[in-house]
Amino acid sequence: RAARNGDVAVRGYAPSMGQIFLRRFQLVTHFRQALDTGQVEVHFQPKIALRDREVIGVEALVRWSHPEFGRLDPDEFVPAVEATGLVDALTCFVMERALEQVRGWLDRGLRLSAAVNLSVRNLADEDFPDVVAEALGRTGVPPELLTFELTESGVMADPERALPVLRRLHALGVVLAVDDFGTGYSSLAYLRQLPVDEVKIDKSFVFGMGSDLSDMAVVRSIIELGHSLGLAVVAEGVEEDAVRDQLVGMGCDTAQGYLISRPLPPDRFEAWLRARTVRARGSRDRLVLTL
Ligand code: C2E
Ligand code: MG
Ligand code: MG
Ligand code: MG
Repeated sequence: RAARNGDVAVRGYAPSMGQIFLRRFQLVTHFRQALDTGQVEVHFQPKIALRDREVIGVEALVRWSHPEFGRLDPDEFVPAVEATGLVDALTCFVMERALEQVRGWLDRGLRLSAAVNLSVRNLADEDFPDVVAEALGRTGVPPELLTFELTESGVMADPERALPVLRRLHALGVVLAVDDFGTGYSSLAYLRQLPVDEVKIDKSFVFGMGSDLSDMAVVRSIIELGHSLGLAVVAEGVEEDAVRDQLVGMGCDTAQGYLISRPLPPDRFEAWLRARTVRARGSRDRLVLTL
């Protein structure tokens, strides 16, 4: 990946600390401009209810195509951006695109939610809940159609600051989800004290559950724990039919993964909805995945 994207990559050698630092510095210095010049986009990956295959919403995921560096991996540039104040601009950019999209669906009679990933810095920003309230008010999107995904490590970095922000977000009525669950501190007692509604099982456990009994046991226990705390449970990284079937059997609520769809740019997401779902008319219209 470094060799494809980077002008500082040295083929065949692990990059030195200096090279990593330089690369991060380049990424961050280019990011502000990237936001303003259309290099940054938001893609959407569907989430489905395992019970009845209804498409219930999307996760909004940032994408950056740089004219020289090419397509950059969020796992590389998001942490670099997160280390700076620019992450506020990233979060707002993604949230605006997500709300715009949800608004568009509502205008067509579709009730789909969108999930936006937060960084540790957003959780330390006491003005952030006001920014969210303003955006919801302006777009007229009901708060329950906006989800924020946060990681355990993001909350644990500074719980004293994160908790009041989380409480205020929750009071707005937005949905809060713990992302990558199982990879962090996994303090079960702590999870009980967070104002969260949903846990997302990390994809590393979901990938393996078809063949690895210990991964299957971890997934099963997260589902049971989540349900016993009254939380909805989402599995990310669902790539195989067999895994989806196991998750259905374990009573997992929601699935997201390449089996259903990769993250797609907005126009291709609309085409996916048209091709892969049927509209079930009822008290409210629902989109259900075809077989
Ligand atoms: P995440 O929030 O855990 O997002 C899920 C990641 O898993 C996404 O990678 C998605 O494309 C990938 N994924 C989903 N289903 C499958 C599957 O079946 N197989 C495989 N192999 N992968 C699957 P992506 O888009 O590369 O993002 C990576 C991480 O970057 C995200 O992990 C999140 O931590 C961060 N990120 C992405 N967009 C944003 C953003 O807008 N803001 C912030 N703060 N972080 C973001
Ligand atoms: Mg996420
Ligand atoms: Mg995740
Ligand atoms: Mg992740």
